Amino acid sequence: MPNGPSSVQAFDPRVIRRDFPILGREVYPGKPLVYLDNAATTQKPTAVLDALDTYYREINANVHRAIHRLAEMATDAYEAARSKAAKFIHAPNERGVIYTRGTTEAINLVAHAWGLRHVGAGDTILLTEMEHHSNLVPWQLLAARTGAKLAFIPVSESGELDLASLDRLLDARVKLVAFTHMSNVLGTVNPAREIASRAHAVGARVLLDGAQSVPHMPVDMQALDCDFLAFSGHKLCGPTGIGILAAKPDRIEEMEPFLGGGEMISKVALDHSTWAEPPHKFEAGTPDISGAIGLGAAIEYIERIGMDAIQAYERDLAAYAMAQLDTVPGLVIHGRAAERGAAISFSMAAAHPHDVAHFVDRDGIAIRAGHMCAQPLMRKRGVPALSRASLYFYNTREDVDALVRSLRGVQEFFGRAAR
Ligand SMILES: *Cc1c(COP(=O)(O)O)cnc(C)c1O
Repeated sequence: MPNGPSSVQAFDPRVIRRDFPILGREVYPGKPLVYLDNAATTQKPTAVLDALDTYYREINANVHRAIHRLAEMATDAYEAARSKAAKFIHAPNERGVIYTRGTTEAINLVAHAWGLRHVGAGDTILLTEMEHHSNLVPWQLLAARTGAKLAFIPVSESGELDLASLDRLLDARVKLVAFTHMSNVLGTVNPAREIASRAHAVGARVLLDGAQSVPHMPVDMQALDCDFLAFSGHKLCGPTGIGILAAKPDRIEEMEPFLGGGEMISKVALDHSTWAEPPHKFEAGTPDISGAIGLGAAIEYIERIGMDAIQAYERDLAAYAMAQLDTVPGLVIHGRAAERGAAISFSMAAAHPHDVAHFVDRDGIAIRAGHMCAQPLMRKRGVPALSRASLYFYNTREDVDALVRSLRGVQEFFGRAAR
């Protein structure tokens, strides 16, 4: 697929879909899969499946240790994937690009390796009310250990951050501002660059949770000027169990080891050790080698389509989906930010979100229902749970139409039951 650096090439989703074997299956007899749970995890193209298969069939060996040919090939492939990831997010250097199990582990790594040294009693960790539990609980744990306080940027009814509150919330006590680039519930894309520059103005460091943004739009770590960026491979067509923490050069030098063991050491004596250079300093033990290689293949795959093209396509599809969902009686969309991605949460007057998800599942449609790892946000919006349809570049208007048809069925079925 041609993709000039500055041109946004449209792509044909019907052609794209052939790259994803699972999209061709029926989940019930006569019910082809309509997969709309991409904010939870995405499907994998043949390019990624083949990379995993080839790795285990042809080059499986442990990395960075043996001197034999396969170990060298495995190490080269593993490190080549790191280079791809670093370029993909425009990280300042590869020394600061660490493999983790995913976003959750990446954030926990920052909390331990950096937070325990740089956040103390009386300091503030500033978060937002729309954070995924993965960008909330690690800070609760750090606050409990250090005596730091948590503060939160409020979220408006439409699902936008109240940036006016930053004047009040940002002071010299704030050591870290950690926030999601795109909300997995409301779809809101937060103004990361602006928040980062205001945070830096009071000397705070910035962690950006890129779990929902990196797979769906161009994300340039240096342009956004964040100190830390975390994302997961499985939400961008890669395997589960692999993700990235990228850190600025100064931050990476400030971090102490999190996990100890093989791979992360330089010299080991019985009573003390010295550390390997970053990033290996933070990669104790045998890593997820195939996962890293699969992640590299996923990045290569989606870069071939083009992040600008993916973003443009999803914007259009999300606008279509919201307009169609708005025609379903009794359906309320939660999250109407001007800047938003393609995760669309909603409630229905007639039925609980779990009943909605069960009902549409019988039509072969996979959506999410529940608190979506954002219980405080549910409480703030006064709902116990929501349903969520989340789109990716292999979804089509036909997928949206199938969902809307099924949701009309929900309204009829449960609406009648209620009468
Ligand atoms: C999915 C998600 C996470 C957690 O990612 P894992 O892959 O489960 O570690 C964190 N933040 C956001 C916004 C997410 O959507």
